[in-house]
Amino acid sequence: MNYISTRGQTPALSFSDAVATGLAPDGGLFLPERLPNLSGLLARWAGCTYPELCAEFFGHFATDIPAAELRDMAERAYRTFDHKDVAPLVQLDERTFVLELFHGPTLAFKDFALQFLGNLYERQCRERGQSINVLGATSGDTGSAAIHGLLGKPGTAIFILYPDGRTSPLQERQMACTGAPNVFALCVNGTFDDAQAALKDVFGDQDFRTRHRLSAVNSINLARVLAQCVYYLWAWLRLPAEVRPRIEFVVPTGNFGNVLAGWMLRRMGVPIPGFRVATNQNDILYRLFQTGEYRIGDVHPSLAPSMDIQIASNFERFLYYSLGSDPARVREVMGALKTDGAYRFDRFDRDCFTASRCDDADIPGIIRDLYQKFNYIADPHTACGFKDVRPDRVSVVLATAHPAKFPETIVSAIGVEPRHPSLEALKARPLVKHRIAAEPAAIKRFIDTNAV
Ligand SMILES: *Cc1c(COP(=O)(O)O)cnc(C)c1O
Repeated sequence: MNYISTRGQTPALSFSDAVATGLAPDGGLFLPERLPNLSGLLARWAGCTYPELCAEFFGHFATDIPAAELRDMAERAYRTFDHKDVAPLVQLDERTFVLELFHGPTLAFKDFALQFLGNLYERQCRERGQSINVLGATSGDTGSAAIHGLLGKPGTAIFILYPDGRTSPLQERQMACTGAPNVFALCVNGTFDDAQAALKDVFGDQDFRTRHRLSAVNSINLARVLAQCVYYLWAWLRLPAEVRPRIEFVVPTGNFGNVLAGWMLRRMGVPIPGFRVATNQNDILYRLFQTGEYRIGDVHPSLAPSMDIQIASNFERFLYYSLGSDPARVREVMGALKTDGAYRFDRFDRDCFTASRCDDADIPGIIRDLYQKFNYIADPHTACGFKDVRPDRVSVVLATAHPAKFPETIVSAIGVEPRHPSLEALKARPLVKHRIAAEPAAIKRFIDTNAV
């Protein structure tokens, strides 16, 4: 299987090369040149364990990696999760299921992709006999999940910039208390955008980039989207057969990476009737699905911070398929978005999507209701999925983070402090962070000194 760019001006690459490259040189995102049809395999896959299912699924995409290695990488990736089902499906009542995606090392769904991606990077180092230095900026969950994907892996080092005082204290501890010698948590003065701008500059220096074999960590890596398809497949296989035709996967959404994975799985022949894009008050995607207009606005910080986005970076993949897999049309729309900050689709096919929007004012009340009705504690991101539940569907709400990551919001809603042993352990460990100016020269000096 080869991988092509949504903008059509990059030669096709193998799976491993597309994963190593990240963003395509023409500015587009990688996609498989065609999607396999999996419908004939579903019955056979019903008995697989989570890692077995992951390896089977990737066997259709990572065709340049031997099956035994895929099995080994999946086995090691999901062994770090603290639940035997990896992604347990919990039933609240006859119309509501929760798919818990927070049992990984950093207690958020991004672990599903980044634990596996860490193993792909490690394999790449071994195969090529070269080290890799991974560099990224984060406002929270992505940075800690990426760090835990590479923790202690030989031949790798990871540098994550984050804005001082703007991630939650627990997220900072997840990055800065690992004790691993290949992890560098870099705390910058300024905002996430300042960090991101400095980083862009560092990546723009081709010499520097090549010298240190720098790789970017961000939400657009193709392997991340594919690894996320697996839990939709897992959940679908576990739902009672009579319920499947009535389900709607409800996905707390920011960059559109999570829900895109589910929708791509549907295009591979898994009969999923529908998806709901659940946004917080940063509702660019809600407005798109309501009106057909994609209009970039300002970001308003919310109680569900990992969904506070302005531009949904994975949207371009959806666009590619929606525009009839025509790269020229993708270039045209992305160009218009860049110059006008908006695009109105004249014939917008909502396909199987619905959308909902949840204000900060709604979140504590939803958390309280769920606790009173089901004795279930949802984190503020997951809570957004319980807004405007459709009575004619069976909702499968994706729980994207563990409530213990957001203790203030939970305590203010229900007066109970959620806890998790791994977060308690972090509170006792020394915090090792490096203060650095949000300037390309300072970042390069730091990498020169500490790169592998
Ligand atoms: C990243 C994240 C999201 C948003 O996921 P996207 O793939 O960006 O749509 C939602 N909830 C939590 C807890 C997250 O960390």
